[in-house]
Amino acid sequence: MLNKFFGYFSHDIGIDLGTANTLVYVKGKGIVINEPSVVALNVKTKQILAIGEEAKKMVGRTPANIVARRPLVDGVVSDFEVTEQMLKYFIEKVHKETFTLLPRPRVVIGIPSGVTEVEKRAVEDATINAGARQAFLIEEPMAAAIGARLPIQEAAGSMIVDIGGGTTEVAVVSLGGIVASRSLRIAGDELNEDIIQYAKDEFNLLLGERTAEDIKISIGSAYPTEERTEAVMRGRDLVTGLPKAISIDSDQIRQALSKSVMAIVDAVKMTVEETPPELVADIMEKGIVLAGGGALLRGLDRLLELNTKMPVHVADDPLTSVVRGTGLVLEDIDLLKDVLVTTQYAKSPRV
Ligand code: ADP
Ligand code: MG
Repeated sequence: MLNKFFGYFSHDIGIDLGTANTLVYVKGKGIVINEPSVVALNVKTKQILAIGEEAKKMVGRTPANIVARRPLVDGVVSDFEVTEQMLKYFIEKVHKETFTLLPRPRVVIGIPSGVTEVEKRAVEDATINAGARQAFLIEEPMAAAIGARLPIQEAAGSMIVDIGGGTTEVAVVSLGGIVASRSLRIAGDELNEDIIQYAKDEFNLLLGERTAEDIKISIGSAYPTEERTEAVMRGRDLVTGLPKAISIDSDQIRQALSKSVMAIVDAVKMTVEETPPELVADIMEKGIVLAGGGALLRGLDRLLELNTKMPVHVADDPLTSVVRGTGLVLEDIDLLKDVLVTTQYAKSPRV
């Protein structure tokens, strides 16, 4: 009863706690925060120095006692305390800017599919400790599918492939549930690593992570592009220790990325193989939908089409699919409560 009363006044929020980016959606307002999931902290004192955009600028540029960490990179709660601090910062930022006098918000938050009960509980706790009145969990591929406006509640199969920074999640949804899924630790970060490795092997050139990501975004591809494009890689010569610049083209970068890209393709194929035939027929008709920043890699849709023999579409604004999905759930929590995850501790979502 009291919750219902509060519900009328508080602005509930949806959060995509991604390995690379955290986005926050406020009911009735839209996306209000879109920042890197990075925390800079002093390792000696454990003091947090910066969060989000400001912290990302420090990556690779910090003195020895300061580290810029991505708390979610090695799984959901690899760094529980830092994750909680980061969430708290984002929730408070929204709360302060928009509704200081209102009660604390209810929060719908995305979690990777297939996380353990302990991890679910940890995210739930972190969200509550970070200032939420209530926390509802939703599996990220489900949120991405809702954000991409797939008909997830119908008795028809929809396939979503969400390629983020740390993980790629492949899922088939039908009747509000996940029917088949796969999660792999090969996604955007791994592609950056591939470029770093390539520069090292081919040119004895040491690249920074940001540089590798810039190259991937500017000329990276999964399938031959119409025009060959070029970029300059700047780093340090591993032999002389001095700065060095090498020019590189899109064919070389595609070759550097191909092994990881094929691992993503294989995960999609394997998920299709595990999907009941009726649902495969639905997917063949409507196509596979790509979400997450990795969906923007040139030609990935084409490569997947050739390998799966199914149509493939990139979601509109794929970097925001998950958070927009959590937003749609907030707008209609009664309709969508079936898609929320129940934890061991809260057997049914407390709506
Ligand atoms: P997460 O959900 O894990 O936070 P995102 O969905 O925000 O991840 O995607 C981040 C990843 O997408 C990063 O690895 C980034 O390099 C990659 N990315 C962003 N834009 C592009 C692009 N245009 N081409 C290829 N990769 C991209
Ligand atoms: Mg994501």
